[in-house]
Amino acid sequence: MAAERIDGKAFAARLRDRVGAQATEFARAAGRKPGLAVVLVGEDPASQVYVRSKGKATLEAQMNGFEHRLDAAVGQDELLALVETLNGDPAVDGILVQLPLPSHIDEQAVIAAIHPDKDVDGFHVINAGRLAVGQPGFVPCTPLGCMMLLTDRLGDLSGLEAVVIGRSNIVGKPMAQLLLDANATVTIAHSRTKDLPDVVRRADIVVAAVGRPEMVKADWLKPGATVVDVGINRLPPVEGESRGRLVGDVDYGAASEVAGAITPVPGGVGPMTIAVLLRNTLVAAYRNQGLELPEGAL
Ligand code: NDP
Repeated sequence: MAAERIDGKAFAARLRDRVGAQATEFARAAGRKPGLAVVLVGEDPASQVYVRSKGKATLEAQMNGFEHRLDAAVGQDELLALVETLNGDPAVDGILVQLPLPSHIDEQAVIAAIHPDKDVDGFHVINAGRLAVGQPGFVPCTPLGCMMLLTDRLGDLSGLEAVVIGRSNIVGKPMAQLLLDANATVTIAHSRTKDLPDVVRRADIVVAAVGRPEMVKADWLKPGATVVDVGINRLPPVEGESRGRLVGDVDYGAASEVAGAITPVPGGVGPMTIAVLLRNTLVAAYRNQGLELPEGAL
């Protein structure tokens, strides 16, 4: 039987609607809109696309977007000075510095400069630490979005076997932490994992965050497993195509015959990332303003 297609795009649209409605409530109470500052350094085409879509989504969610574009040759000190200005700006609730940064800039130093209460990407070590010890803080948008899709489909994850493939700071590790907090039994796999197909085969939940096109095969999956595909990979164009197709880290077509449910690429995890960024910005706005976000509003 074919797997259920987990429609991240529709879920994200509903979340964005709720965030927009609550942002309007916030503006009424605070006398200002929530604000998200996005900093883009250089001309990386993919980053430009992301920044443009974040800007548009911010406005649609009844928030202010502040875009700062800096030359690729900008010095680290100048970038840090901008972050400092944004930290002190009461109109800015969230600060996002689009990664990757040019190689002459120390990414970790820039992330560390963002005030943890405005770190809506959840990359600051303070927020990573809060997640690790179970304190409230900002959780990276992509894994939090994956978690929302998983709990929406499965409800209680207690005791389920989860395998996360990938151990990056922005996806794999926080994903594993969230699953652990939800009482799943978690394995983190990576490039040195032995017998990866066997490891994946025991999972009720598979999260693939690798960056290798269609690496996870149908016969790696336990029948009925729930599969969340974070990967975004562009294949080389075949004849007649100007650009290659976008695929995930999972061989979607074949995997759909075995899995119980699966996220497509595109239209799965990708749209959740921006929706959760808006959610995190709204949460930051309430905190920064000293207001209480009503229970269950999002
Ligand atoms: P990274 O490159 O930082 O991490 C990739 C991870 O995959 C590493 O931990 C690496 O292991 C592991 N890995 C690589 N090759 C293998 C292999 N053959 N077998 C098992 N594990 C392997 O990537 P990110 O976490 O940043 O992103 C992962 C994917 O998700 C990418 O395709 C990216 O484009 C996508 N992405 C999508 C987002 C969205 O919004 N949907 C947001 C963020 C990322 P090791 O640590 O041992 O090197």
